[in-house]
This record gives sequence, C-alpha cells and structure tokens, in this order.
Amino acid sequence: MTRPNSARLLIVGPQGSGKGTQGVLVAEAFGAPQIATGDIFRANITGGTELGKRVQAIIEAGDLVSDELTCELVRDRLAQPDAAHGFLLDGFPRNLAQVDDLAEFLDSRGEALDAVIELRVPQDESIARLRQRAIDQGRTDDTEEVIANRLAIYERETAPILDVYRERGLALQIDGVGTLDEVTDRIFASLARRGLTPDADENGDNGDNGAAA
Ligand code: AMP
Repeated sequence: MTRPNSARLLIVGPQGSGKGTQGVLVAEAFGAPQIATGDIFRANITGGTELGKRVQAIIEAGDLVSDELTCELVRDRLAQPDAAHGFLLDGFPRNLAQVDDLAEFLDSRGEALDAVIELRVPQDESIARLRQRAIDQGRTDDTEEVIANRLAIYERETAPILDVYRERGLALQIDGVGTLDEVTDRIFASLARRGLTPDADENGDNGDNGAAA
C-alpha cells in the first residue's frame, strides 16, 4: 500500500489571503482533492448550468449562496470516491450552519476533520491582493464595492467559525504574510506538529494506485 497519507482538512481565511493557492499545494501533497466551492460555482456559471443560473447574481453581488444549495453541493462532492480518504475544502464552511452540516455529514460516515488551516492576513493586505487579482483575472466579484461586501460577510459570518474550530482544538493559526514559499513552509510545519505529514514519495509513486490499494 503506497497511497500517501491523506487528511481531512479545511483552509479558512479572508478573500485575498492566498488560501486558494496554498490549498492546492497542500491538497496535492496529501494526494487529496482540493474542493473550492467558489470554483465549483464559477464553473457552473461559465458552463451555463441550471445551478450556475441560480447563483450568478448572488455571487456577482458578493453575497452568500443559500446554505441549502451549498451544503448539498458539498455533500455530493465529498461522497465521490476521490474524497474517501481525504480532502481539502476551500471556501466551505463559511458560516456556523455550514460548520454543523459538515460535522453531521462526516459524523454519519464515521469521519472527522483532522485540522483547520487558518490563514491570517490583515485586512488592508487582503484588500490590496484582491485589487491586484481584479486586474490580473478580471473576476466580476472583485470590484471595490463587492470586495467590501465580501470582506464584511467574512468578518460577520465566517470569522466566528474559527472560534468553534479553536474550541475543538482543530485550528492551526498560520501567519499568511510573506512569500508564497514562506507561507507554504509554515503550513506544512504546523501540520507536521499535528502529526499530519504526507508520505515521502520514495518510489516515485504519485498515489495513482490509491484507488486500487
Ligand atoms: P470564493 O471563490 O470562495 O471567494 O467564492 C466566491 C463566491 O461564491 C462567494 O462570494 C459566494 O457568493 C459563493 N460561495 C462560495 N462558497 C460559499 C459557501 N460556502 N457558502 C455560500 N456561498 C459561497
């Protein structure tokens, strides 16, 4: 059995904290899918699906999609075989109701989270990064007004979920200011202190045989 160690992880931080980029790196290392609800919604909008049509206006305003729709989407995604041994969720949960829904879902499967990566970035820094992203990527929800709305929602709805995960002893607080590599190193060091380390890739094995193992 050469499947890499996997882990059930969340990455939480304000928009512009770099959590998307870091999340991909961590998920890859653990051979687990990175599941970003925002990316899934945007792909549906681009693809013109029924779901995309339902969420487009909400996302463009920077508001939250309903818990009902979002939780169902995440449950379906986590039930897929590639997430059986681990996953990294980015952008979910985003409020306390979603925290409860996730816990209930995992519980029903006899699973639990291993850690919550909390990426800490001061607000003026995340605003500066979002402005840059608006220039680089042209996202329709990166306008000044929508950025302000999304950060306000983060403070009001999402920041409280971190209190819950701190109380549960799951939160790993990471300083998100620095170069990409510096922050990545901090995340892996913090995970390692939790005993969460992906296997060294000794045989050049990339974990593809995980499904058959
Ligand atoms: P993100 O790419 O994570 O910034 O998400 C982009 C947008 O998708 C958000 O501003 C919300 O409108 C929507 N969204 C993403 N994840 C969630 C979630 N967990 N709950 C509700 N809405 C979400």
